[in-house]
Amino acid sequence: MKGRKLLMIPGPIEFEPEVLRAMSAVTTSHVAPSFIHSFGNALDLMKKIWLAPAGQPFVVAGSGTLAMDMAVANLVEAGDNALVISTGYFGTRYKDILERYQVNVTILEAPVGEVPSLETIENALKNKAYKVVTMTHVDTSTGVLVHSKEIAALAKKYNALSVLDGVCSVAGEEIKQEEWGIDVVLTASQKAVGVPPGLALLVASEKAIQTWEDRKTLVSNYYADWKNWLPIMKAYQERKPSYFGTPPVNLIMALETSLRIINEEGIATRIQKHKQLAGAFREAIAAIGLKILPIKKEDAANTLTAVYYPEGVEMASFLKHLSKLDVIVAGGLLPEIKTKYFRVGHMGAVTSSDMISTLSAIEFALVKSGFTFKSGIGLSTFQKILNSSLE
Ligand SMILES: *Cc1c(COP(=O)(O)O)cnc(C)c1O
Repeated sequence: MKGRKLLMIPGPIEFEPEVLRAMSAVTTSHVAPSFIHSFGNALDLMKKIWLAPAGQPFVVAGSGTLAMDMAVANLVEAGDNALVISTGYFGTRYKDILERYQVNVTILEAPVGEVPSLETIENALKNKAYKVVTMTHVDTSTGVLVHSKEIAALAKKYNALSVLDGVCSVAGEEIKQEEWGIDVVLTASQKAVGVPPGLALLVASEKAIQTWEDRKTLVSNYYADWKNWLPIMKAYQERKPSYFGTPPVNLIMALETSLRIINEEGIATRIQKHKQLAGAFREAIAAIGLKILPIKKEDAANTLTAVYYPEGVEMASFLKHLSKLDVIVAGGLLPEIKTKYFRVGHMGAVTSSDMISTLSAIEFALVKSGFTFKSGIGLSTFQKILNSSLE
């Protein structure tokens, strides 16, 4: 019997054994040659995986929220205008962060499960000059995916910088940072990047760095200021020692390991696999008779699925029975409907057998909670779709 449960939440996720071994390796000095080498490799690999060969990667100790904070703290100055495209909980967080920097925020919110239309976004951009446009690629509270390529193109057309909160999408959804002209793509270690929590990661475009260099005022966040971190990142990229704040040595070794695994598989293949698993999972959920939050199929994420409980099924009963089969899913996150849905993360090292175990547990928990459906239909639908996509 395995002593651990299957962790199917949208971060932290299940990690590769090799990544976990890097976490338990002997901790070296942050200026040991072997560590300098690992850090430099991790930064080089980020540019490959982000598809941003001319971008500047940053890795600092912190969570995804620090990456969100760092991105805008360096780009905005008091009195600037920012447009926040919100599809849930993390859009609201971006508004809160920007307001701390005395930025005038306009937020475009869509009803739950939908995305603001490109027309609405273009109208907003036409009516006011914005320094920055932020978007949540996959909002982890809803499982809704925004069309980041098109939104970045609009931002560019109206001379605004684009910031993509990719915490729940980098390495799980298609992103071509340089080709699509996105100025900052940020994430955190514990999601599709596949490393235990603790690292804030981002890649900034040349234009983003230039905007930061042209600032008239100091960055009003000491820890996140690129002035402190840019020389450090450059030193590691050149395989030279340097110091500003002690890097989390083991996490960075684990990051190098995970990015190497992703790069060896190939980012395109990796994303395709996420797409296949997510597509089969959504069909299985529909076959059981459950509804997901995203209204349109094309707005549903590859990295997680948010599912409404059916009529008559209580959250407490469902989660209690699910955990009897050693599967952990996440509850709702969006305050207004928190108790009405659950979320299943399926990213990173996830396999089809993890998905089958999860579906089996979901079916069991639904039966025990009094919901009537054709037993096994979710499982057989998943297998049928996945098997045909593998042929
Ligand atoms: C998880 C998440 C965050 C926050 O990351 P933390 O590491 O919890 O701070 C931000 N945005 C999105 C889209 C996320 O999924």
